[in-house]
Amino acid sequence: MSSNPAIPEALAGALRDCQSMCVLTGSGISAESGVPTFRDAQEGLWAEYDPQELATPEAFLRDPELVWNWYRWRRRRVAEAKPNPAHLALTEFAARIPAFSLITQNVDGLHQRAGSSNVIEFHGNLFQTRCFAESCSLNVDNVDDDTSNLPRCPSCGSLARPGVVWFGEAIPPSALESAMIAASNCDMFLSIGTSSVVWPAAGLIDVAMRHGAVTVEINPNPTMESCRVAFQLAGKAGQLLPALVSLNAKGF
Ligand code: NAD
Repeated sequence: MSSNPAIPEALAGALRDCQSMCVLTGSGISAESGVPTFRDAQEGLWAEYDPQELATPEAFLRDPELVWNWYRWRRRRVAEAKPNPAHLALTEFAARIPAFSLITQNVDGLHQRAGSSNVIEFHGNLFQTRCFAESCSLNVDNVDDDTSNLPRCPSCGSLARPGVVWFGEAIPPSALESAMIAASNCDMFLSIGTSSVVWPAAGLIDVAMRHGAVTVEINPNPTMESCRVAFQLAGKAGQLLPALVSLNAKGF
């Protein structure tokens, strides 16, 4: 074992040799920043709603006010949060490893606030707004979150919607293509804080495995991938990632 009892020596060695790392993050990496995952019990007014039933185009068509109220609450919640040691550790990897890609399913922008650049946002961004009409899809700026008015597209007048990918919607093609390239070309793939049930993000680890990458999962709870990855680290990202960074640093 390495000096850190939670991290096997073989993983420490692979980290020191790593030339190309691809990281996939899910909402668990932001849990230690106080941003609830979808599978956590929801809070306050939102406790009675299932997020998977609010984050859909059907829910928006049925009740846009309800969906906007939820997104405005989430925007406020995320704006108050700060990046945690896990987000910061990934910026260290990016600085040290020759080729580094970060794919996130998160919409909270905390990776960018930690200093990560070129983040592949698989599911869009909570703070963007765009026209709901598919034929338009224009980005809508300056949405006032302090009113209860429903934002509208300045070009076609349709309702505007949060700029995230909802359940049942397609991933932006450029994000999907960049993620596939990154997963196919890495020698180490880290899956962090994701339950690995939301597709197609959940399939990226398979792409990496097929191309011979060492796979690592960081999650305090087991997932469908736990028994398939080379290394399963059962713990919190905010503790384990800084420990991995310090192991990698010893190789330089
Ligand atoms: P998920 O809610 O399905 O799973 C979260 C996973 O994180 C769980 O397996 C949990 O065990 C793990 N986890 C909890 N605390 C952790 C910690 N401290 N360290 C490491 N892992 C931890 O999330 P998902 O897989 O990302 O998929 C759900 C969808 O929800 C995604 O599409 C995402 O866009 C969306 N979402 C995003 C945010 C955000 O942007 N912060 C928040 C909620 C939901």
